[in-house]
Amino acid sequence: MTGYSDCFSPDFKPAPYWWEASPQETESFAALPSAADVVIIGAGYTGLHAAVQTARAGLDTVVVDAEAAGFGCSSRNGGQISTSVKPSFSTLKQRYGEDLAVGILKEGQASLDHVTNFVSAEHIRCDFGVVGRFHGAHTRGQYEKLARDCEARHPGFETGAWMVPRDTQHSELGTDAYYGGIVFPRHASLDPGKYHAGLLGVARSAGATIIGHCRVNDLARSPQGFEVSTSRGRIRAKKVIIATNGYTGPLTPWQQRRVIPIGSYVIATEEIPSDTMDRLFPTNRILSDTRKLVYYYRPSPDRKRILFGGRVSLQETDPRRSGPKLLAELVRLFPELAHTRISHSWTGIVAFTFDTLMHCGEDAGLYHAMGYCGSGVGMAGYLGSRVGKAAAGIDPDLGAFSRIPFKTRPFYTGKPWFLGPSVAVYRLRDRLGL
Ligand SMILES: Cc1cc2nc3c(=O)[nH]c(=O)nc-3n(C[C@H](O)[C@H](O)[C@H](O)COP(=O)(O)OP(=O)(O)OC[C@H]3O[C@@H](n4cnc5c(N)ncnc54)[C@H](O)[C@@H]3O)c2cc1C
Repeated sequence: MTGYSDCFSPDFKPAPYWWEASPQETESFAALPSAADVVIIGAGYTGLHAAVQTARAGLDTVVVDAEAAGFGCSSRNGGQISTSVKPSFSTLKQRYGEDLAVGILKEGQASLDHVTNFVSAEHIRCDFGVVGRFHGAHTRGQYEKLARDCEARHPGFETGAWMVPRDTQHSELGTDAYYGGIVFPRHASLDPGKYHAGLLGVARSAGATIIGHCRVNDLARSPQGFEVSTSRGRIRAKKVIIATNGYTGPLTPWQQRRVIPIGSYVIATEEIPSDTMDRLFPTNRILSDTRKLVYYYRPSPDRKRILFGGRVSLQETDPRRSGPKLLAELVRLFPELAHTRISHSWTGIVAFTFDTLMHCGEDAGLYHAMGYCGSGVGMAGYLGSRVGKAAAGIDPDLGAFSRIPFKTRPFYTGKPWFLGPSVAVYRLRDRLGL
């Protein structure tokens, strides 16, 4: 390839590949009622799973989203599903003690079970499959660390994982770029757009009113609960659930000070011959690696394209600029794709937290669940369900993530000025193999 423009296929779109099969709803015809039992802010996986619970419990439920329902991460992600908890057992044990550490890991397992059971019980056709994950080691040292973690199985974390040494890794993935890796057989994949569209249908069938293109501008407590001011008028609510994750703004300053919004970037390639796909991805697993600036990728559900995501710039950038950089990384892993072009390139805002864990909680009728640190396909729905059940009075216990402190940092207001320097340090550490 000679320049950036050669990277793009003639039908290139700077929009999520998933939107081809599941277009965003351009208008919202439902009128905003003047009152509801529960108002949910954000119509992604968190908000809609909460709505399914509250609406099925008979509560008058209204979900509003500033954009089309699903505009946020929930229709933009890689569709990879893991147990979602990033810190290791030993780190968690050191921070919180053994019982809570096991509790947190069990919540991770429960989130994977939740999405698996939900798509099956609700008959959501979203190309869900328990394909397993191959997690590649980018250095020899990382391979040894993975092997030690794999060996040290402990209660609450039964993954059934196994190691794949470098000399047999072609049985998993057609690259020599890794020093072997680990397979997590229970990890799964789905089409995020179809999953969101199916979930939207389930929430509506349960009786929830979903109103897109309706931004909440102000939230105030009142004697009866809350006054919610939106771009379409006011609504009174007995309870409110904040489900805004990486798109959390000044509406909820307490939450905004606790999440770190970071862009993640994905490309879809144009169609690739099936024999190449079979050689590069013989097992159809989802893929990731041990770098701090992780790359996550997979075949598309029809196995015709590769979807490749990660963080390729110090500051946030345009998908037209991130696309060629991601393609260059893809080609580094699979040199035979040197002449492959990009059909879609897009971005979305994930919510990191200072302890790299997700959080949920309640403050006198105001609930939140957020901070999935880029691993929310299973967890957002699971914690959304938990806050929905709590708001409906079905189960007041919000679980392990409500028992850990949701910390901010002095002077942090929600704008991560430290992002560029942090990415630069991680990039250097990845290059040095640290
Ligand atoms: C590029 C990318 C790739 C990812 N890949 C994966 C992956 O492979 N696996 C995985 O597990 N996770 C992945 N994630 C993360 C995952 O998608 C999210 O954790 C999950 O979708 C969060 O769902 P949510 O409902 O909490 O938030 P979102 O889906 O982001 O929804 C939040 C919504 O809140 C709305 N909102 C914000 N403020 C207001 C307001 N004032 N009024 C009304 N509405 C408001 C926004 O418009 C938005 O639609 C990825 C994320 C991105 C961006």
